Amino acid sequence: MTHGTKRAAEAYDAVESHEELIRWSRAYCTRAVAAHGFDVMLGPVCWEVSTRAKRRAAAVKTPTIENASVGRAIDWSARANGFGESTPPECTMSLSWRAFESFDREEWSATLRHELVHVEQFQAFGATDHGPAFKRRAEAVDAPVRVRRFAEPKYTLSCEACGADVAYRYRECKLVRESSAYRSACCEAPLHCRKRRE
Ligand SMILES: [Zn+2]
Ligand SMILES: [Zn+2]
Repeated sequence: MTHGTKRAAEAYDAVESHEELIRWSRAYCTRAVAAHGFDVMLGPVCWEVSTRAKRRAAAVKTPTIENASVGRAIDWSARANGFGESTPPECTMSLSWRAFESFDREEWSATLRHELVHVEQFQAFGATDHGPAFKRRAEAVDAPVRVRRFAEPKYTLSCEACGADVAYRYRECKLVRESSAYRSACCEAPLHCRKRRE
């Protein structure tokens, strides 16, 4: 492991705010564009962190480009996009805070590479999808063709004494059914289980 990789790994674990998540992700994408040869301009990419995204780990939001389709190169200079010359219009990399919290660095990085394939397609064609071209490109950059669906946990277990959330479960299990029989590590107190509101 090189020094740079180690520092980046530490920084990932140290991310605590939306701004830091954007900074980390943008820096990672800059390295990934160089390392994997993405044909991507990061300049016209905006960034946001979503706290509402319930299932998608990340998404690229693009304007709708008329008559664009994947595989047909687009000439941005022939389109009035307000950015002049051949610069593609802005698209937005939207990151889910909850997904970041549950993904480790490897999975988060792979998610960003998946989204970079979308950006690459959008900037080249004005459209993006998960078709055969996407699949080939995703495989070439070691990205998943489908990002793991990220769901909010159905059950949250908290400490009855201090109220801290101590565990999450996606489905019913013994811990959920008999939560008060378990003790929290923080206070040795019974656990309280609450179900996500649908
Ligand atoms: Zn996708
Ligand atoms: Zn406690």
